[in-house]
Amino acid sequence: MAADGVTTSAAFPVPDTMMAWVLDGPGEVRRVDKPVPVPGRAEVLLRIDAIAICPSDIDNIWYGWPAIVDGGPPFHKNWTPGHEYMGTVVALGPHVDEFAIGDRVAVEIHAGCGQCRRCRAGLYTACLNYGDRAKGHRANGFTTDGGFCGYQVNHVNTMAKLSDAIPDALGTLVVTAGTAMYALTELGGLVAGESLVVIGEGPIGLFVAAVGKTLGASPVVVTGLSPQRLAIAKGLGADHVVDVRDRDAVAAVQAIVGRHGADYVVECSGAPVAVGQAIAMASRGGRVCLAAFPAESTQVDVGRLVRDNIALFGIRGEGKRAVHRACALIRDGKFDPTPLITHTFPLDDLPTALATAKEKRDGAIKVVVTPHGGVAGRVGRG
Ligand SMILES: [Zn+2]
Ligand SMILES: [Zn+2]
Repeated sequence: MAADGVTTSAAFPVPDTMMAWVLDGPGEVRRVDKPVPVPGRAEVLLRIDAIAICPSDIDNIWYGWPAIVDGGPPFHKNWTPGHEYMGTVVALGPHVDEFAIGDRVAVEIHAGCGQCRRCRAGLYTACLNYGDRAKGHRANGFTTDGGFCGYQVNHVNTMAKLSDAIPDALGTLVVTAGTAMYALTELGGLVAGESLVVIGEGPIGLFVAAVGKTLGASPVVVTGLSPQRLAIAKGLGADHVVDVRDRDAVAAVQAIVGRHGADYVVECSGAPVAVGQAIAMASRGGRVCLAAFPAESTQVDVGRLVRDNIALFGIRGEGKRAVHRACALIRDGKFDPTPLITHTFPLDDLPTALATAKEKRDGAIKVVVTPHGGVAGRVGRG
C-alpha cells in the first residue's frame, strides 16, 4: 500500500485487492474482488479478523432497510454489508498516532460528520449529515461499505482497543454491548437500585440485561419466548426471566416489580404489541426506550404517557463513547457474553452463515464470520 502519508509495516503486509461480498438483489450476496481501501486523515486500515451477523444485517440484505446507500436502497450498488466487526490495525492514515500497527480493536458503526450540532454534543448516531460521505459521515454496513470483506477503514474516534483477554469472536460483541450501555446510561439515566425490564431476548436484550445488572439495576427482569435464550439471560445476571408464551406479560412483570410498575423498560423485541406492553409496564414517572426496529407502525396509549409522566424515546446505535465503557466491563469480566456466540463460519461461507442467523438454525444467536481463516461449526452445546 503506497499512498501519501500512509504508514505500513512489513509485519502486516497489505495486499492491493481483497475478497469482498456485495449485495445484488434482496437476499443475494455475491463474491467480488475489491481494492483494499486506503486510510485518509484520522483513519486507520483494519484487517478484519471477525465479524458477527446482526439482525439489522438480515434486514439490510433481505429488505434493504435500515441501510441507505447513496440516498436509497442498497441493492445493486456494489455495496458491502456487515457492521459488527473487530480487527487488527495494519496501516495508519496521515498523522495518526492514536493507534499503532498491530493494535487489536473493536469498532463502532457510526462516525458522525464531527461538525453538526448533534455530533458536537456526542450524539453522532443522530448526525444531521447522516449518510453524507462528503461531509465525513460513515456508518459501516449501513451507508458505507462494511465488514464482510478482508479490510476496512475506520475513523480513529470509532475504535476501542481490545485487551488480549478478549478473544476475536467476543470482540465482535463489544459494539452491541455499547448500544446497551448507551440505552441505559446516556439515554435512560439509569441509577443503581432502579428496576429494569427488558422485553425481548435477542442479542441487544441480553446485553441490556447484562450491562444493567452490572450497573446495579434491581431487579432485572427479561421477558421472551425462547427458553434457551432466557436461560442465557439468567446466566448474564437477570434476576427474573418470564416466558410470555403462556401468560400475560404485563401482569407477570407487575407481580415481580410491584403494582406501580418498573422504573425503566427497554423494548428490544420489535413485536407490534410490545410497545404498548412496555408503556403498561412502566411506573408513573418511568421511562421507556425503544431499541428494536419495528416492521410496522403501531398504536399506543399516548394518554397514559401524558397522564403519568412517562418518557418514551428511541435509540439508534451507540453514542457518547458508550462502546468504550462497555468494552471496559467485558475486559474486567463483569459478565461473560461467550454463550451468545453459537456458530462460526469462514467468510467464504457467508451465504450459509447468513441463512443460519436468519432462520435461527440450530439455536443460532450470534453467528461469527472469520475473514482470514477459521473453521465452520457450532460453538459449545445447549
Ligand atoms: Zn448490529
Ligand atoms: Zn454530524
